[in-house]
Amino acid sequence: MELSSRITNITGGGSDGWDVFYKARRMIAAGTPVTELTIGEHDIRTSLDILGAMYNSALAGNTGYAAIPGSDTLRNAVAERIAARTGVPTSKDNILITPGGQAALFAAHMGVCNQGDKALYVDPYYATYPGTIRGVGAIAQSIVTTPDTNFEPTHAAIAAEAAGAVSLLINTPNNPTGVVYSAETMNGIARACQDHDLWLISDEVYDTQVWQGQHISPCMLPGMAERTLVVGSMSKSHAMTGSRVGWICGPTDAIAHLANLATHTTYGVPGYIQDAAEFALSQGCVTEEAIAAPFRRRRALSMQALAGQNVIRAVPAQGAMYVMLDIRATGLSGDGFANALLDAEHIAVMPGESFGQAAAGHIRVAMTIDDGAYLAALQRLISFAQDQIE
Ligand code: PMP
Repeated sequence: MELSSRITNITGGGSDGWDVFYKARRMIAAGTPVTELTIGEHDIRTSLDILGAMYNSALAGNTGYAAIPGSDTLRNAVAERIAARTGVPTSKDNILITPGGQAALFAAHMGVCNQGDKALYVDPYYATYPGTIRGVGAIAQSIVTTPDTNFEPTHAAIAAEAAGAVSLLINTPNNPTGVVYSAETMNGIARACQDHDLWLISDEVYDTQVWQGQHISPCMLPGMAERTLVVGSMSKSHAMTGSRVGWICGPTDAIAHLANLATHTTYGVPGYIQDAAEFALSQGCVTEEAIAAPFRRRRALSMQALAGQNVIRAVPAQGAMYVMLDIRATGLSGDGFANALLDAEHIAVMPGESFGQAAAGHIRVAMTIDDGAYLAALQRLISFAQDQIE
């Protein structure tokens, strides 16, 4: 029996880019200790008070079907957070609650792409992007960026691929590069979307992790709110990766249709998870800053460790929980470096190539272990890189 090309093509037929990760898992299973710097997950768990809110809600009976677009109170809380951060008037009718940012990315593309439409995304990219686009039956087309421009997409690069496209997916603060798009970049993106009548899908799941520069949500830019779908999530901001709760913020008409999609796909997010998310948001930005703080510290440690050597160049680490390192001076590819580092030093990092060809010759290091162990691992990684050229 044949399956649809829509799902058999999701991975695009190539390697999924997780070979080093799986190799590290096999080494760990076989008893070899490995320092794991691959995955974008906090080294803390969801806080006890958020779990308490979840438990109390479940105990109070919120274990049945929940409101599908999200509870009014959570939609209001998300709308208030967005209005406070962007200055753009936002109401609950602009918000759909989703089972995490990934489901929001899928729904957003489902919402704007017809079968066979071209949908743009920026290379380097978060691992699921092309597959998400293919999964809705659209054609995934990358906008290739370069290390010299910190992997930020230019107006010209977008315009070159825009003919026949219906949407552009961006991510700032960026995974995997750690770059926060500049005002100039954001204005170029906005102009390209208006010139070519594109929907902009703006993945802002790292919006609480900004170390340098300023996060600009494109819905703040003139003429953009009506063509932008913002994807948000509680995963990174509140260490709630396993709770699966996020949102789409967009024009009310789009949200009403996306709520119909939710009725026919996810049937909403569990009520006790929504209540926990609402509680978490009610704790305000002090909680968000506390959850981001370890990454801010480790980013500073990374800069210290990398200073005074010239084998590795760091892509400006302005946000998110990663540092992207240019290891081209070693003569190795990102894949070659990551594999050799794992074999020799038992340190697992992601090859840049896992995130697209634009990041070839780079590695992504997740700052997701405690400060002392992180610094020691980075120092070993730097020595390893230096050994390659001696
Ligand atoms: N976008 C980006 C850029 C991510 O890095 C991730 C998770 N690593 C997601 C979206 C999805 O996050 P979630 O589904 O947990 O909200």
